[in-house]
Amino acid sequence: MSVIIPKKVYKTIVAAAVRFANAKIPRDDWLEVSGIFIGRNEGKGNKAKVIVTEAYPIMHQELDKDAVIDQYKWTDEDYLSLALIDDEAICRDPPEFTIGWWHTHPGFKIMMSHIDIRTTLSYQTNNPLAISLVFNPLRLTRQIEPADKKGDPDIKLKNDPGFKIYRLDDVEKGIQASYSEIDFEIQGFDSLEEMLVQMQKFVVDVTMNLPKENVVETYESTVENMINKLTAQLQGLDEYLQTLVRKGEQARVHEVLEAQKRDIYKYVTDTTEKLENIKEFKDYLEFKERESMIPRIDEIINRWETTVGKLDSTLNEIAKKF
Ligand SMILES: [Zn+2]
Repeated sequence: MSVIIPKKVYKTIVAAAVRFANAKIPRDDWLEVSGIFIGRNEGKGNKAKVIVTEAYPIMHQELDKDAVIDQYKWTDEDYLSLALIDDEAICRDPPEFTIGWWHTHPGFKIMMSHIDIRTTLSYQTNNPLAISLVFNPLRLTRQIEPADKKGDPDIKLKNDPGFKIYRLDDVEKGIQASYSEIDFEIQGFDSLEEMLVQMQKFVVDVTMNLPKENVVETYESTVENMINKLTAQLQGLDEYLQTLVRKGEQARVHEVLEAQKRDIYKYVTDTTEKLENIKEFKDYLEFKERESMIPRIDEIINRWETTVGKLDSTLNEIAKKF
């Protein structure tokens, strides 16, 4: 059997993982995150395919220095998220459902712990094709896997996406079940090399723009900065033109105005593109965060769009004065 992972699904897992385990966070404070997959199954037996259509981040571990791996606790709100996502998926055409789960091992080896086996068991008992994906962001960024034995050198990898997908071999053995890796295909990249380049850059973007807390405030300060810079450029232009007139260099006004307009429009194009990139990050929030945070983020992004919408008339007003 094999699993189809679209680019957006892969990016969701990477973003949710890196948000809680990245270069800006001390390594001891890295947290595991966990979520589910929506999709459908096609075919049977060896030809069976699991088509993943969406990954939903559900929760992250609380910081607890004494916690052992995989000891995250799902709250009632998290279970409610699962039910809501499942209810929505079944209404799709064709109907979809929860086809497995994913979680992270930030900075440590990819495998299935006893707790992971127990969780996978609950999915696979209902759906024999259910999958369990384990991702380690360091494996993606550094292309290494820690050795089995402590003290042995790290294992070097090539073009590795940072995760493996597993399923249990023998569900009837319960928590004694063994597990195997399943083949998968990540869609949406021209080559593995290109995937790695894009995803490593994406990790940096997420590290810089998707903090574990204060997400809305971060969007707000980013957009405020962008608007302030644009306002400062317009004011600077106005003042510069006034200076030219005062110095009797009226003849240069047109040329200066045109050159500055080009710079300002370039700034707006570049900034809008940058904002377009980080706009996407709201899709990588935990399900329970979405309802309250996404409308606020949209409103903040809208402030930039409104400012840019007025740019032509603002520039015309400046031009008219001279
Ligand atoms: Zn685990």
